[in-house]
Amino acid sequence: MKAGVVAVQGDVTEHATAVRRAAKAHGEAVEVVEVRDSGIVPDCDVLLMPGGESTTISRLIHREGIAPEIRDHVANGKPVLATCAGLIVCSRDAKDDRVDPIGLVDVSVDRNAFGRQKDSFETSIPVKGLSEPFHAVFIRAPLIDGIGADVEVLARIDDRPVLVRDGPVVATSFHPELTDDPRIHDLAFFPETEVAA
Ligand code: GLN
Repeated sequence: MKAGVVAVQGDVTEHATAVRRAAKAHGEAVEVVEVRDSGIVPDCDVLLMPGGESTTISRLIHREGIAPEIRDHVANGKPVLATCAGLIVCSRDAKDDRVDPIGLVDVSVDRNAFGRQKDSFETSIPVKGLSEPFHAVFIRAPLIDGIGADVEVLARIDDRPVLVRDGPVVATSFHPELTDDPRIHDLAFFPETEVAA
């Protein structure tokens, strides 16, 4: 399996480690490649869209011609895990002129909505499909404030969706790569069976 991590900003090593852990649990070998230019995504089986600053990520994936390749990847039914700023970039509407979202997840988001109340927090949340709660780390996290009919909500906090699936794309407003627990990467890339925390 070839996993591409969109690496226009940071957060790459953590995602690479998490996808390796998830693959190992399934006895699958994984090659992780960093995506900074066009021409790499078409060879990837799965993609990771990390956190960071959505304004910067959005600008660079459009400028480098990566955005249409990510759209094609999803149109071909291949999995994507988008986290935090990655969710903002993949949304239908980010309500911010500085972000040009690619519309792979039929949600609208409010950037930094959780963050305005409190910069970051951690909490354990029940996740649909996982037998034990997941320890979720939120850092200036976006709030999903509008959701399309075909989007499945896999986890909520105070009734607000924080983990969703739209076709082959799983998106989180938290950072699953910042713990040792590979289960959200597993949920995105190996949805058939659950691995241990
Ligand atoms: N609030 C950031 C943004 O708008 C996202 C923060 C994050 O990825 N941790 O891009």
